[in-house]
Amino acid sequence: MRPVTEAGKANCIPVAMPFVDSLFMPRTIGDRPDVIPEGATNFAFLGQFSEAPKDCVFTVEYSVRTAQMAVYGLFDTDKEVHPMYDSAHNPRYLVAALKAISR
Ligand SMILES: Cc1cc2nc3c(=O)[nH]c(=O)nc-3n(C[C@H](O)[C@H](O)[C@H](O)COP(=O)(O)OP(=O)(O)OC[C@H]3O[C@@H](n4cnc5c(N)ncnc54)[C@H](O)[C@@H]3O)c2cc1C
Repeated sequence: MRPVTEAGKANCIPVAMPFVDSLFMPRTIGDRPDVIPEGATNFAFLGQFSEAPKDCVFTVEYSVRTAQMAVYGLFDTDKEVHPMYDSAHNPRYLVAALKAISR
């Protein structure tokens, strides 16, 4: 009799997620509405399909940041949107990434 391994007990059901692809389609400024469009006073656009400058889609942070932009932009709070972490242009992290992928 064959031993039952942990992998043998695994149940894997592939699932197509067509809507996920839409996040990675080519985009350009103007494709997506600004979080608070010009002149808006009582509504905003949140989530992956609104424009959060320099941010990276397919992250929870993107959605959270758009919510912060909306709430802090429409209401009088002393809070500030969490800044984007600009690692893609920081030579220190680029060198570290190069080292990591060439290990
Ligand atoms: C497989 C997978 C893995 C991921 N892994 C990561 C990860 O490791 N790290 C990371 O940061 N991000 C990850 N993400 C991305 C992240 O999950 C999403 O970007 C984030 O959850 C989006 O949050 P959201 O609140 O904007 O939208 P959603 O979480 O999509 O929330 C939208 C909500 O609106 C509801 N809704 C839709 N239409 C209506 C309607 N007409 N009326 C009422 N309600 C409605 C939906 O049911 C849903 O609950 C992953 C996503 C997927 C699919």
